[in-house]
Amino acid sequence: MEEVVAGALFMFILKETSRNAYNNDRGDVIFATNYYRHFKLHLPHPDTIDQVMRDLPPQFLEELKAQLVGRLIEQKTLRKFRFQDKYYFVPVDATGIQTFTKRHCENCLTRISKKGVVTYFHYVLEAKLVSSLGHAISLASEFIENLEHRDFDKQDCEQKAFVRLAAKIKKYFPRLPICILADGLYPMTRHSVSAARTIGGSS
Ligand SMILES: [Zn+2]
Repeated sequence: MEEVVAGALFMFILKETSRNAYNNDRGDVIFATNYYRHFKLHLPHPDTIDQVMRDLPPQFLEELKAQLVGRLIEQKTLRKFRFQDKYYFVPVDATGIQTFTKRHCENCLTRISKKGVVTYFHYVLEAKLVSSLGHAISLASEFIENLEHRDFDKQDCEQKAFVRLAAKIKKYFPRLPICILADGLYPMTRHSVSAARTIGGSS
């Protein structure tokens, strides 16, 4: 599993343009030897990575990420970047990940232009731990998407996703003192204030 997850990450880190390009590199003896020398891991076949990623519940990787960041915090690596020697800076913002002209899945968000053209898209809301040296380490992510069990009259949106993201941060980092950095969408909205209280809680 270690090799499969590392392989999935390195497809991005090594800027592979496709699974096929990664597979060609993987067949290169010098490349594979160097990779093994650095990480003591083999490079799995991209179809294997694809299959495992399809079968793996997303929470598994989410928990793994939280554990890794938790280790960094425990090791006090980022302590010197805190605000007022106490609070870690955590910007929260949404970013578009995919746009389609035709419906791509049942969870797509939709937008209708003035001319009546429908666009289908996906967004993710990110909370990152940042430092003045330029570190940006993902604390938690929440997809903004229309799900069946959510209110379907109104679409999912950044403010609603923030409520879920706040709960996630509180779950994985219950005692982490943080200072949230957010744009003009957040001040004064009812959801955001109550969600910020969720994170604030005991800390
Ligand atoms: Zn979709």
